Amino acid sequence: MAKQIENKSLQKLANLRRQHKGLINLMPLQTGGMLTDAAKEALTEFGDGYSVCDFCQGSLCNVTNPPIRDFVQELLPQFLGCEVATITHGAREAKFMVMHSLAKPGDSILVDANRHYTTVVAAERVGLHVIEVPHSGHPEFRVDVNEYAPLIKEHAPKLILLTYPDGNYGNLPDAGRLGEIAQEYNIPYILNGAYAVGRMPVSMEEIGADFIIGSGHKSMASAGPVGVLGRKKKWEEIVLRKSGKYSNKEIELLGCTVRGVPLITLIASFPYVKERVNNWGEQTSKAQWFSTELEKLGFKQLGEKPHRHDLLHFDAPVLYEISKRVRERGYFLYKELKERGIWGPQPGMTRSFKLSTFAADRQQLGVVIDSFKAILNKYS
Ligand SMILES: *Cc1c(COP(=O)(O)O)cnc(C)c1O
Repeated sequence: MAKQIENKSLQKLANLRRQHKGLINLMPLQTGGMLTDAAKEALTEFGDGYSVCDFCQGSLCNVTNPPIRDFVQELLPQFLGCEVATITHGAREAKFMVMHSLAKPGDSILVDANRHYTTVVAAERVGLHVIEVPHSGHPEFRVDVNEYAPLIKEHAPKLILLTYPDGNYGNLPDAGRLGEIAQEYNIPYILNGAYAVGRMPVSMEEIGADFIIGSGHKSMASAGPVGVLGRKKKWEEIVLRKSGKYSNKEIELLGCTVRGVPLITLIASFPYVKERVNNWGEQTSKAQWFSTELEKLGFKQLGEKPHRHDLLHFDAPVLYEISKRVRERGYFLYKELKERGIWGPQPGMTRSFKLSTFAADRQQLGVVIDSFKAILNKYS
């Protein structure tokens, strides 16, 4: 019996497929992480374990073949507008390593109320108190960065963090103004750009942050998990302090970070990603047009208006009403969209849902708008 179950499980492993090949992809988690052809090729070329370590002399970021050194030491800092950069396993690992290096258990960190859950979990792992700067609530959920100042005075946090944009509403708070506040109070400032770096132009230096964080699989056309961490040079000795026993191994990186294929896909897609951020104007106008069209159908866009990011969150009372009376319940929307060639809102969600217009062109978004119309007609 046990053997039978095992065989069945093994069979499932032999047929790994995803369900949505060829569909229009609107899923916010995925639209910025779709691979380029160059990355797909590199993926198989470097698929074997430790493939990037062929010519390693003890430090991952110094490997010249493949050209990791050039990427990390030259291209990446320039792209992020910072002095030095490192590769991490993701945005959350980058946040953790900064918090872990600069603060001690019992210290506080001040973050925006739209922060990602990984900000809180990273802080918990370090033992920090998390204090939140409130947002304005429904429907815009705006964060006014001027509200950081009184809370800095009240709580004397070791670090401040801003989510730019947040992953729920796609709001872009005034990151540059927070840079001035950070300077005024002389407090290290982390910019979490998991949804910005690789999608839109963003420069740590212009914003005045101490750290900038990106996510390869979220926004840099990479398989991941991989992240980038840019920073001011003055933090180098603290964040990248070396092992006492192994003088070329950074403690926070546990010696080396991304030892293989996620890094190679990040590098292979980089020339394309570096260029695509220049299309940001078209990306935002496309998102605004799409949002206006969906609002005409009775959905309500949450977050800032006019919107300045491709991540859109809609309240959809009409769909929710339908879901209450159909057999599939909340899954009807996912099913209806999939039948029309669209992969987007989290299956099961109807009352409110998130979409990203980043990977779809206007013609495809037209198909999406028409599909929503057809679905509403069908159930009206
Ligand atoms: C997706 C996301 C993260 C997590 O990114 P990882 O690279 O997977 O750790 C962090 N912050 C925000 C705002 C995100 O949207």
